[in-house]
Amino acid sequence: MTATLTTRGRIAVITLDHPPVNGLSLATRRAVAAAIDAAEDDAGIDAIVLTGHAQVFCAGADITEFGSPKAITEPHLISLITRFENCSKPVVAAIGGTCMGGGLELALGCHYRVAGRGVKVALPEVKIGLVPGAGGTQRLPRALGVEPALNMIISGEPVAAERLAQLPGQRLLDAIVDPAEVLDTAVALATERAGLRPLPRVRDLKATHPSPDAYFRFVRNSVAAMSRNVPAPVKCVDCVEQAVKSRIDDGLTFERETYLALMVTPESRALRHAFLAERAAGKVADLPAGTPPRPVERVGVVGAGTMGTGIALNFLAAGLPVVLVEQSQAALDKGVAALRGVLEGQLKKGKLKPEALEARLALLRPTLDWAALADADLIVEAVFEDLAVKQQVFERLDGIAKVGAILASNTSTLDVDRIAAFTRRPQDVLGLHFFSPAHVMKLLEVVRGQATAPEVLLGALAVGKRIRKTCVVSGVCDGFIGNRMVEHYFRQAGFLLDEGASPQQVDRAMEKFGFAMGPFKVSDLAGNDIGWAIRQRRAVERPELRYSMLADTLCEAGRFGQKTGAGWYDHVAGSKPGRLEALPSPVVAQMIEAHRQKQGITPRRIPDDEIVGRLVGALVNEGARLLEEGIAARASDIDIVYLTGYGFPAWRGGPMCWADTQGLFNVVQAMKRYARNPHDDATFWQPAPLLRRLANDGRTFN
Ligand code: NAD
Repeated sequence: MTATLTTRGRIAVITLDHPPVNGLSLATRRAVAAAIDAAEDDAGIDAIVLTGHAQVFCAGADITEFGSPKAITEPHLISLITRFENCSKPVVAAIGGTCMGGGLELALGCHYRVAGRGVKVALPEVKIGLVPGAGGTQRLPRALGVEPALNMIISGEPVAAERLAQLPGQRLLDAIVDPAEVLDTAVALATERAGLRPLPRVRDLKATHPSPDAYFRFVRNSVAAMSRNVPAPVKCVDCVEQAVKSRIDDGLTFERETYLALMVTPESRALRHAFLAERAAGKVADLPAGTPPRPVERVGVVGAGTMGTGIALNFLAAGLPVVLVEQSQAALDKGVAALRGVLEGQLKKGKLKPEALEARLALLRPTLDWAALADADLIVEAVFEDLAVKQQVFERLDGIAKVGAILASNTSTLDVDRIAAFTRRPQDVLGLHFFSPAHVMKLLEVVRGQATAPEVLLGALAVGKRIRKTCVVSGVCDGFIGNRMVEHYFRQAGFLLDEGASPQQVDRAMEKFGFAMGPFKVSDLAGNDIGWAIRQRRAVERPELRYSMLADTLCEAGRFGQKTGAGWYDHVAGSKPGRLEALPSPVVAQMIEAHRQKQGITPRRIPDDEIVGRLVGALVNEGARLLEEGIAARASDIDIVYLTGYGFPAWRGGPMCWADTQGLFNVVQAMKRYARNPHDDATFWQPAPLLRRLANDGRTFN
């Protein structure tokens, strides 16, 4: 059963029971409809309470049913809400836990609502490119007031119930109590109001605004400016305007039509894909059922540099004690100062309370005494990217770490299996590839070595979740999922300069596509010397892999990027204090010109769609190879890596989703075209066999 019906005296209690979030699947809707029928027909029942469990009242529609016949099979959500609204006996929603989306719309169909303090309430549909589709845009403004309702709808952000209860004139919440008392209060309210008629319905209220025309014009303009790439936020404004200006039934029809039109937009498809992809990421199919994750309660971090300090901050924020070790007191002091600096910055911005700062620092134990690592359940190594140094560190850890401790390396490019072999316990070793800044970036690539034990992998995934990372499992290869793909993205950016584009044009095209920064701005920010070092290594390991020599010439001239004031751009002090402005560099333009002459290349005008096609296409082709090799388990994992680690625009759903949207047949045709370009890399552009097969079969990656 996905909903149960019980009684408390003359009150029927319908409890949603569809773990984990009481999603309104077809089965749940049927069970709820049957329960309300039974309660209404029962002469021994005077009123009805609808509730969920302590953590979740209802998180809304079952997103896995989107686009499937189940979503529109009766009773669909709109019918269910109408059923509650028209029930001849009063219905009280007892909201003891999270109430989102369709859950809130259902509650708005009830006659009374009681909520627990701290309960999160939201209409988050805009985040998946939709407007609320079951009356939310019409009933919430009537119940809460137009402005607060529209703010909730266009942001999609949760608001604490007690804040909503304080809004003047609100009719959303009839009582706000301690979460533990929600059900009892709702039953008492139902008993008290059982005989009261007419039943109050949100649909009968008016949504009013003193100057609607000016207000909606203002909001529409601001929202349009902030959300140029996605239609949903402006559509939310349109719908709420209808709530003010139309009769409710017309408003509901308008909302429904808007919802259905948005449902088939590529932006909403991509955002829904990303939502589901995020939930699938970190799930590993081939582990024995019932494998217990290795518990992690105490952490060690080796190396207090850029990454080590960021990594430590994550665990401290999650309340886990961290031992931080270094090779010298100076390096340790520097790391602790950097870590403290981040916390103080958060304090200044009001993101952290003074007592939380103190609590985090109290959990940190910086030391040069490696023996302090003996208690750690997880030790993350973040020392220099040098195999000999990693060997020293892992051999030492092998002698110190307790039996069963997880030993993780944060290496970006080194072979995790070779690192594991430096210990006598390769089954306990894996990669935890954090992204910089490690305390900010959501992505964590969890690198599964050949010998990594299932419980070690699961332990790492569990602690990754605890520190609020989005974990994606990667096999061992150079660069893992993200960096292995991005190398080809940057190679293409270089070839485009050879052939006629400028760094500004490439960056502009990719920014128009949706990236916050194009590849040359990113390189200048990260430091061009990093890519230089990788290319030097590549020249030895894979001499056949061709790339534009321009980036090397740039580095030879000392133009490492922002840190040297010059890279692909000239970085000068901007109009805002502390901000740098990136200006096109005449020196770089000359460098490019000279390079083309030396290569005998006559520059051509390159259209923006070729720039996008080649840069994103390069990600797609390498992504397909990773899938085929089993380095990535799912195309959606690759998308998540790019959405959470590389700034790929969310509304495009990631590179593999982008390829699906283009049609894989078209993607393959484009690759064949690129392969015929004498200045490009024909070998690379051979479509990956998996891509070719899917395209031939008319299928997609996701
Ligand atoms: P870093 O140079 O900032 O810090 C490395 C620290 O390790 C230094 O403080 C150094 O004193 C310490 N160290 C070196 N040898 C040691 C030893 N034997 N014992 C104890 N401490 C030792 O480097 P980083 O940028 O923090 O990179 C660390 C690791 O993280 C590398 O493997 C790197 O590839 C990886 N990584 C870096 C980034 C990034 O953007 N910086 C991103 C992902 C992964």
